[in-house]
Order: sequence, then structure tokens, then C-alpha cells
Amino acid sequence: MKTLSPAHFNANKLIALPKILLKVLFALAIVTPLCAENEINSKEKISVLLIDGQNNHDWKACSPTMINILEATERFKIERATVSKEEVASFSPKWNNYDAVLTNYNGLPWTEKTKSTFEAYIKEGGNLVVVHAADNSFPDWKEYNRMIGLGGWGGRNEKDGPYVYWKDGAFLRDDSPGKGGAHGKPLEYKVVVRDTNHPITKGLPVEFLQAKEELYDQLRGPAENMNVLATALATGGSERHEPVLMTITYGKGRIFHTVMGHDAKSMRGIAFQETLIRGTEWAATGEVTFPPVSSEELPVDRAASRHPDEIKPSK
Ligand SMILES: [Zn+2]
Repeated sequence: MKTLSPAHFNANKLIALPKILLKVLFALAIVTPLCAENEINSKEKISVLLIDGQNNHDWKACSPTMINILEATERFKIERATVSKEEVASFSPKWNNYDAVLTNYNGLPWTEKTKSTFEAYIKEGGNLVVVHAADNSFPDWKEYNRMIGLGGWGGRNEKDGPYVYWKDGAFLRDDSPGKGGAHGKPLEYKVVVRDTNHPITKGLPVEFLQAKEELYDQLRGPAENMNVLATALATGGSERHEPVLMTITYGKGRIFHTVMGHDAKSMRGIAFQETLIRGTEWAATGEVTFPPVSSEELPVDRAASRHPDEIKPSK
């Protein structure tokens, strides 16, 4: 809506009006544009619910780091739900208040009611971002495993679905028996983009190095409606090209799953940061408005990292 500035009022006509009305008109003319601007800004921000509170990783350090990364872009507004073991029974968020849910949660099962409202939220077009050990969570919750595509540990094995990895120029679904979820020693690993046309990866360097951390391998899951965007060779682990970045659709919901992000230090990796930012925006909106970083910023010959405070909002 176009709003008139005070300069658009015809002063001659206004003179005839009572003084009090004049004051009201001028006040409206000055205040209205400010309101309109604030409204636009708050509408543009993507509302994200971050869930943590239980994890075999240092969630107390990792969650604030992710909040810093996302909020530094000025594109996201994060609320945080910290759910202790004691609070699981009463955990029942209003999912529809959020454009996306980001889970950093690897803990006790939610109540049946919360699980079913969450399934309905995602099916109806709510969206999800899954970071690192959140894909260890809920091994027995069938629908969650359909949402995340692949998961690890918690007794996961061939009953949960295939291994998925890149081999000889294509993705292979491997039904051979074995446990789901493993990793070798921490390493700086090379991420290779396998889908250069997806909004999350489009324009990024095709190869880049992530900061030192454990690299998940041998994840298993239903892997339905899943698109693996990038892989990394699990050197010292499975020795396979393992999925690192994935998208999944579940009903109308969009899911972005990254296996990166073991600790707050590796979350300083620009590889983690840029893909988290782009993946979260894509999950929430279906598009990515951030310009892709160049190979100077996200190189393959060294693991570039930065403090989240160094992230600048894009113009
Ligand atoms: Zn880890």
C-alpha cells in the first residue's frame, strides 16, 4: 500500500479544518509509514522453532551457535524450546506458529499427541531442518524416520531401510544387512555437490572442505522422496561417498537434513554455516535468496571457518 507523506497534503484546503483534526492527520501521516515498514520487516523474517535440551552432543554450545549463524543474516527469527527429560511429557508446541522447525534434539520420545500434531504439521506444509545427531533420535518413530530419510544408531539396521551412497557416478541403495550409523576419526572432509541445480547448492563451489569433525557414515532409513545434494568420502570409516546434505519431501513438507555440525567448533566451518543458512531458508520458503558464496570464501584446499559474528546480512 502506498502511503502519503505529509508533503502530499494540500495546505490551503487543510487550513479550513479544525486544528485538532489537522494534528491527527499529520500524526497519522508520519506514523503510518513507520508502521508499514515495521510490518514488512517482521513479515519477511522466517520464524523458526529450534528444539534442544537432550543430546549426546554439546547442545548447550551448539544451539546458541546456530541461532547466531541464522540471526546474523537478519533473515530468521528463532525461538528456542529446550526440553529436558522431565519436560517431555508436557512438550506440546504450537507448530503452526513457525515456518520451520530446526531440531538439535536427540532424546526421549515425545508424547503420542505431540508426535501426531508434528506429523500433521509437516504433512500439511510445515517444514523441518535436521542437524547432525538429531538424525539419531526417535529410532522407533516410523514417520520421523520417513521425514529424515536416513538415520543412525538406536538399533537401526536393515529393517529400517537401505544404506545410500554414491558409487560409479550414481546413488546406490544397498540393502545388505548391518548396523545403521558409524563414523571414523574426526577429519576435515571434502564435500562434493552432486546436485548443482537445487536452490540450496546452486552456484556454490562444486567441492569444498568442511572443518574438522566426525563424518557420519552407514546411515540407514526409508530414504523415500529423498534427494542427496552432496556427499563426502568417509576416509577411515566406510570408505564410501556418504550423504552429507539431503532434502526430503513428506506430504507438503520440505525437509533439509545435514549431517554436519558435530560441535560448536566445527559449526564455525563456513561449509556448515552457508549450507545451514541456505537449507533453512529453502525448507521454510522453497527458495534461496542468499547469493552463493564463492570458492574464495568456501575453498576446497583449506577448511575455512569464521565466528558467527562475522556473518553479514546479504543486501
Ligand atoms: Zn557427532
